[in-house]
Amino acid sequence: MSEERLQKILAQAGLGSRRSCEEIILAGRVTVDGRVVTELGAKADAASSDIRVDGQPLAGQRLRYVILHKPAGYLSGRDPRAGYPSGLDLVSVSERLYAVGRLDQDSAGLLLLTNDGELTQRLLHPRYEHPKTYLVQVQGVPNPRKIRRWQHGVMLDDGPTAPAEVELLRRGGERAWLGRGFAEERKRDAKAPAEPQPRTSWLKITLREGRKRQLRRMTALLGHPALRVIRIGLGPLVLGNLAPGKWRDLTSAEVQALRDLVAQSEEGQRPDERQRRPNSGMPAAGQRAGAQPTGERTTKTPGPSTIAIDGPSASGKSTVGGRLAQELGYLYFDTGVMYRAITWIALERGVPIANEAAVTALAQQVKLDILPPASADGQRPHPDGRDVTVLADGQDITWQIRRPEVERAVSPVSAYPGVRAALTLQQRRIGQAGRVVMVGRDIGTVVLPRADLKIYLDASVRERARRRCLERRARGEDAELEEVLAEMKRRDEIDSSRECAPLSAAADAIVVDTSDLTVEQVVTRVQGLVERWAGKVR
Ligand code: C5P
Repeated sequence: MSEERLQKILAQAGLGSRRSCEEIILAGRVTVDGRVVTELGAKADAASSDIRVDGQPLAGQRLRYVILHKPAGYLSGRDPRAGYPSGLDLVSVSERLYAVGRLDQDSAGLLLLTNDGELTQRLLHPRYEHPKTYLVQVQGVPNPRKIRRWQHGVMLDDGPTAPAEVELLRRGGERAWLGRGFAEERKRDAKAPAEPQPRTSWLKITLREGRKRQLRRMTALLGHPALRVIRIGLGPLVLGNLAPGKWRDLTSAEVQALRDLVAQSEEGQRPDERQRRPNSGMPAAGQRAGAQPTGERTTKTPGPSTIAIDGPSASGKSTVGGRLAQELGYLYFDTGVMYRAITWIALERGVPIANEAAVTALAQQVKLDILPPASADGQRPHPDGRDVTVLADGQDITWQIRRPEVERAVSPVSAYPGVRAALTLQQRRIGQAGRVVMVGRDIGTVVLPRADLKIYLDASVRERARRRCLERRARGEDAELEEVLAEMKRRDEIDSSRECAPLSAAADAIVVDTSDLTVEQVVTRVQGLVERWAGKVR
């Protein structure tokens, strides 16, 4: 055992120079065995202590969380065609960050940026709409009746809005919320020649939903168009004194608060959400599939927290897994997407598929983000019908990974042990957080061998080839049954005979043959297995 100064350990772990590591320590972002350490002289033993930065163990990937005060006129993401600069370019860090959710180009304020794909997925999951607070400057002064209408919800062309908190601020009340940036703006305004200004007022509005341009549409509908929209709060985060265009790292307490928020939502602590969406047909997290939403706070029903679904191509894993996850309010994660992504990147970069070392290096280097299907401007569902967005080093390759050339090359790629090791590590991290339905070939056997419930879906190879053909034709591609059949047999053979994590049902998996079943029947059968599991545990 040898103790060393904390900044030296951090620097050796690649977190930057000793000087910048000292800043990380002073900012309260480092914990040693669960205790925040802010003294620069502190020592620790890297071998035996649990040293974390922003809650992440040192050896792991460096995760970064940043709050940006996005100025109006900037996009939240990147879209070279749009002709506007991106808020991402205002933040100069070495990590590749992306925005969690969106903020309209003409709105300003708090934007959360991170490279933590897992937290992003959970924060953006449509089931958990976290409160977002805005200051909105509107034309005129809305009367109390209009404010009440906003509070109760108004009818927009895409349906009624959920109840919102709306408060008319007293004259000048916005100054208490807007910090330094606003003060600077006021100074500038004061220098400008005075012109008669039409009367405006400021509202503080908290929403739990985020439809496209919702605030602007809501305010215009009641005759008080929004002139400025500034987001000042997002879940537990507040914009505070951050000037427009400036950014800062989240403190470890803020990161923890975000994690707690997600965990809380996933434990079904939101009975109000069920009341608001009585017809969604989707049980809230923590409810068993098929149970009726009651609108009352229910104690958490024990259900399997990690569900592994394995099986060969086109056995119905993704359709059934996706449906199950939606009904349980769990995260759905399709691991096949990751193998496909590495395969596509290898093809695109001209890396020969037979070159194991080069393909493995790609799997270790390429940063994959598997995100909920929001479009560049945040629209959900995505207009192109995707059910997931796949980014490789920030490039959107969602559809490329479905191409026939990927289909042909993916099985050899996924047989490489180094590729599997790199991807399995990421999959485990996601699986271990629980409340997840993870589908693939080796989830029950290798990735999550201690999954609560393991299901293995199977079907005859001809039936699976038929389904894959229909799927391809539905996307407007050519597909010949015999060709697809031959391809599928070849893939089955490689997947089940490879040495590393071959496709096979775990000894404790429940095998369901879907050859003669409709999707509905398979879903019902799988729901039954979940119920039975919960019944046994109870
Ligand atoms: O499920 P999907 O057909 O998208 O998976 C593509 C390929 O990725 C499979 O044929 C298999 O070779 C590989 N794969 C794997 N292990 C997983 C998921 C997929 O080997 N867990």
